[in-house]
Amino acid sequence: MDERSFFDEGELVGVLTTQPLDRLLDYKAPEGGCFLGAFVEVPLGPRKVLGVVWGAGKGDYDRSKIRPMNRVLDAAPMREEMMLFLRRAADYTLTPMTAMLRLATRAPGLSDPPSMRKVYRMGSGAPDRETAARTKVLAVLSDYGGLSFTLKELSDMAGVTSSVVKGLVKQGAVREEDAPRDTPYPMLEPALPSKELTADQAAGVAALKQAVASGTYGTTLLKGVTGSGKTEVYLEAVAECLKQGRQALVLLPEIALTAEFLTRVEARFGAKPAEWHSGVTMTERRRAWKMVGQGGAQLVVGARSALFLPYQDLGLVVVDEEHDTSYKQEDGVLYNARDMAVLRASICGAHVVLASATPSLESWANAEAGKYTKLELTSRFGEAVMPDMRALDMRLENLPGTRWISPTLQREVQARVEKGEQSLLFINRRGYAPVTICRACGHQIGCDNCDARMVEHRFLKRLMCHQCGETKPMPEACPSCGVEGKLAPVGPGVERLAEETKELFPDARVAVLSSDLFGSARALKEQIEVIAAGEADIIVGTQLVAKGHNFPLLTLVGVIDADLGLQGSDLRAAERTFQLMRQVAGRAGRAEKKGTALLQTYQPEHPVIRAILSGDEEGFWQAEARERQHVGVPPYGRMAGIVLSSPNVQEVFDLGGAMAREIKPLHAIGAQVFGPAAAPIARIRGRHRVRLLVKADKTAPLQSALQKWVAQFKIPGNVRLSIDIDPQSFY
Ligand code: ADP
Ligand code: ZN
Repeated sequence: MDERSFFDEGELVGVLTTQPLDRLLDYKAPEGGCFLGAFVEVPLGPRKVLGVVWGAGKGDYDRSKIRPMNRVLDAAPMREEMMLFLRRAADYTLTPMTAMLRLATRAPGLSDPPSMRKVYRMGSGAPDRETAARTKVLAVLSDYGGLSFTLKELSDMAGVTSSVVKGLVKQGAVREEDAPRDTPYPMLEPALPSKELTADQAAGVAALKQAVASGTYGTTLLKGVTGSGKTEVYLEAVAECLKQGRQALVLLPEIALTAEFLTRVEARFGAKPAEWHSGVTMTERRRAWKMVGQGGAQLVVGARSALFLPYQDLGLVVVDEEHDTSYKQEDGVLYNARDMAVLRASICGAHVVLASATPSLESWANAEAGKYTKLELTSRFGEAVMPDMRALDMRLENLPGTRWISPTLQREVQARVEKGEQSLLFINRRGYAPVTICRACGHQIGCDNCDARMVEHRFLKRLMCHQCGETKPMPEACPSCGVEGKLAPVGPGVERLAEETKELFPDARVAVLSSDLFGSARALKEQIEVIAAGEADIIVGTQLVAKGHNFPLLTLVGVIDADLGLQGSDLRAAERTFQLMRQVAGRAGRAEKKGTALLQTYQPEHPVIRAILSGDEEGFWQAEARERQHVGVPPYGRMAGIVLSSPNVQEVFDLGGAMAREIKPLHAIGAQVFGPAAAPIARIRGRHRVRLLVKADKTAPLQSALQKWVAQFKIPGNVRLSIDIDPQSFY
């Protein structure tokens, strides 16, 4: 790290830009000089680009040709700890620094001049004539002391038209001023009373408060069944952090969950926090980014990329539902937000809370090894108890191939409908049917760009590729043999299950919950609230319903195909199935009625199914840990996935073959290479994909070896190479 923290006008500085170049660029510091970490606008060819002052310039370039930077932007300079975080994250994920900077500046209009808006406050003059409307305006202003308001706020609060305010401005009784558009978020009040905690919860809160107050890095795994009050507990850790005057961040895996959470924050702290996710408007994004940097936002609630905001003093990061796969970014910079949260916190002396009912094996192992502190909430809050879980052995159920609800499950649902209780039928597949087959020739309709079958979405009246998103209308005739009227759906998706449900229970109110059936996060949230309020007898849903929603009237969960996740070559298949099934089952019986979860399965003796049913969690994790330890895979070994893709199939196999042969740098650290092989999805968006897997010991310096290895090869122009450290999915 450069020792200097300020550069005078004309001095050479090295600037990291957001452009894909592999080095810093030298510029002359502008008039007035600039700080290390300053966000700046610099000329690059004919363009103006965003950058950060990263250190002293190298000066290994003709000095007379070095251009001055355009200007320093209106934003707090990047703190050194943030620079360090970006560098470490880049080293870990093998991502170029320029891409890291793009991730850290994902707010629109950062280079715009500071934008202003008009605000109104009490003036010194008196109105020529008192009217009722004028008096109301002046009363509002005097009630709120020196505060200023926008025109709309002020006229709304006074209950007058804006022309009344404007009239007062003319007479000097009200003052019109320019104020920055990006304003601080309302203050949160940690001293407001919390809920009365159970003994279990209080013990957890005490431990977390102490950890947060220490002001040093640490990670706590907060494990507790759904409904045990994990959220209540970590909100008190947030309160402690705010009391310390530091900032807190809560990461949530699903936008649909944020609304419910914001309401809880408001109830606890008297105001809403800053939000950061894809559903937030551009103006709000910029405001959040700036205020986080200036200390005008105490708490941020957001998606994984909120980790890359420029916090001034981050004291706590909560990763809720820490096992959730959506924390792994699978596009662009391949990072796992859970791991990056720990990295960031360790740099800035913050505490991390990983909350889950079903932690990832990684976190479980870290707690076992004593790296994380483990806090456990063992019972559900109030009367609620964990549901009874049973397998329905589908081999005994005698079900035709076009039906998915077994007679036993049907009877159980019927009984709930009659008692006025809710049932949930869960299937983890969107659309109507995963496969469309021609009964004349056996052809299955596939995507033109990908090596994947197209999924029928009857709701959209189209076929859709779940890899690239391409859609096309359902053809009349088979695209292969041309015979008409022979195309038939095979297998169930959530829409088809809903159809069957409506047939079986014609008098029940059936609601379908699948992310693609709703135009917006708001529509989805409304539907969830309506269902929670009891406006449905049967909910048919996908993975979406497994995530943290509260359905107090739900007493039965039927898992249509518990075997679905057990297939496939993913090393985490068992872990995922275990987590998902337990989460879904955790939806039942959240209020005072005991719930039942029924798992339809063709392999009730499978170890994963048995572990789910017996509720022997520790047993499951121990067995899974032994298995992974035995084969040396994460978290007991390290892995990296390398995917080469190109429109030209020969090119990717040639390069993959060469890479598999020239492996000295990998051998040097004792790593093994598998492949090249066609990736499980061998073509996406017209690009052929080849995969190599690298496996190494837990302590091996994997990243530097990978770097040396890859540097040996010239990558042809249209080949894309991506390296995924700790891959989560194997497609
Ligand atoms: P989790 O995050 O573990 O799923 P929550 O914190 O959401 O659990 O708690 C489940 C429900 O129980 C929520 O509606 C919550 O408000 C309520 N609850 C939990 N603990 C308490 C408490 N001590 N006092 C009152 N309500 C509580
Ligand atoms: Zn496709």
